[in-house]
Amino acid sequence: MSTVLSRVGELEVVGVQDGAAFMAAGVFGDPDSDAHRAMLGPDGRVELPISAFVVRTGETTALIDAGLGNRVVEWQPEGLGPQKLEGGRLPDELAAAGIDLADIDVVLLTHLHLDHNGWMWSDGGPTFPNATVRFGAADWDAIVEGSASESGRMMRAIADVGRACPIERDGEVLPGISALATPGHTPGHTTFVLSSGAERAMILGDAISCPVQIDVGKPRPGGAPVVLVAVQLSVPGLYLPPLLKAMPPKNPPQMIISLPVQTAV
Ligand SMILES: [Zn+2]
Repeated sequence: MSTVLSRVGELEVVGVQDGAAFMAAGVFGDPDSDAHRAMLGPDGRVELPISAFVVRTGETTALIDAGLGNRVVEWQPEGLGPQKLEGGRLPDELAAAGIDLADIDVVLLTHLHLDHNGWMWSDGGPTFPNATVRFGAADWDAIVEGSASESGRMMRAIADVGRACPIERDGEVLPGISALATPGHTPGHTTFVLSSGAERAMILGDAISCPVQIDVGKPRPGGAPVVLVAVQLSVPGLYLPPLLKAMPPKNPPQMIISLPVQTAV
């Protein structure tokens, strides 16, 4: 089990982990850099959590990102070593946190890659039976329309049952949660800003998925504008992945609200 409870003002945030990504070091920058060796596992790969966050606003329960689903995905990009994604734990982690799948009113997807929307559809129906599903509209054309991918198949099924509701512009999507377009990683990539009182947190999705992207200024292909925007934002609180604690950026944002996924015994 790995859940953590935090607060952003009046908002209650529960971090959950569907699984993990084992990525070739070269994806995130110079694999030979001594500065980053501490981040590598015994097999030379970077292990990153596949995370999701439940946000309770008081009236509404939202799930931000929805894991990989009950899958193992392996591939090897040219010039890089083997990579692997493992998912499947999200329902159990939600249950352990006292959250029923039917409790989720809204699913907010940072983007439509399979390791972020993997639990949209399972056992012949929506995994979250009462949830409206929201995502950056530009991802529909880029990832869903005409695609035979699992992500595309699930999103079309969600639309067919009347649950898909694309986000067309920046602004509040729920009380205390706003959408902020951060295209780059995908055309419709969306950062969700949690806001309550004087506190802010940002769920960055894959705009920044590894602290090395900040440290060495070598974001993954297609991600440069997003990373630069995210780092330069001057907000009271900024969520960054847990690994950042092990490697602070050279130019840290004003303040970091860290929501590490902790492993409970
Ligand atoms: Zn992605």
